[in-house]
Amino acid sequence: SIGGNTMGVENIPLLHAENIYKEFSPDATQKKNIRVLKGINFTLYEGEIVSIVGASGSGKSTFLHILGTLDTPSAGNVYYKNRNVQSMRDDELMKLRNREIGFVFQFHHLLPEFTALENIMLPSMVAGEQMKRAKQRATELLCEVGLEERMFHTPNELSGGEQQRVAIARALVNEPHIVFADEPTGNLDSENSEQLQELFLKFNKERNQAFVIVTHSELFAEKSNRILRIADGNFVTP
Ligand code: ADP
Ligand code: MG
Repeated sequence: SIGGNTMGVENIPLLHAENIYKEFSPDATQKKNIRVLKGINFTLYEGEIVSIVGASGSGKSTFLHILGTLDTPSAGNVYYKNRNVQSMRDDELMKLRNREIGFVFQFHHLLPEFTALENIMLPSMVAGEQMKRAKQRATELLCEVGLEERMFHTPNELSGGEQQRVAIARALVNEPHIVFADEPTGNLDSENSEQLQELFLKFNKERNQAFVIVTHSELFAEKSNRILRIADGNFVTP
């Protein structure tokens, strides 16, 4: 159900977005502001998997970036456990992004000069974790995503599917409550897509982490707890 909770999932809101609007200023070819989001309300509960679907250009990435504090709304508010993101200082926001949130993008954004292991370790080093512990944690995650034999490979020595599995491990290393993914399988063939989707489902089940995933895969969307379809700036009934 749109905006509602899901049976079997505990009713604890992790994140609440209230009346979110987003406009972009026109470029040289346009006169009016582009209104992308028009008053979206959304609550994310602990342990949910929510899929966001919609046509290209409908505002899915814009909405995900606003939820993930990577962009700010033109109007409206985002709350993490009742704390308004707009009232947070920069250092508090950085801490929130580093510890409470994980991101997986369509393009992996791994650092090319670092190994898979080092890429996964980095967010926990940033969080102040000791090297030894960070390495241990990253190694465990590499095994969980099935890449124990690729530990010392750099991103350009990995396939697209392997790169995305490293990106998932990196997103999870600080055990965030929420993972945002923007078309994480957009560049993968169907076999690798399925493998990645199974990992999302597995981590959700085992760790009760919430996932908000923009996807074009109807098959995956159907496996999630809720499907939200964006059209004309708001959620519509699928
Ligand atoms: P989706 O992810 O659903 O494909 P986006 O959220 O990327 O859609 O974009 C929604 C609309 O907002 C598109 O028309 C896009 O061109 C416009 N848009 C996105 N980002 C910007 C920006 N930084 N400046 C101007 N327009 C933008
Ligand atoms: Mg997009």
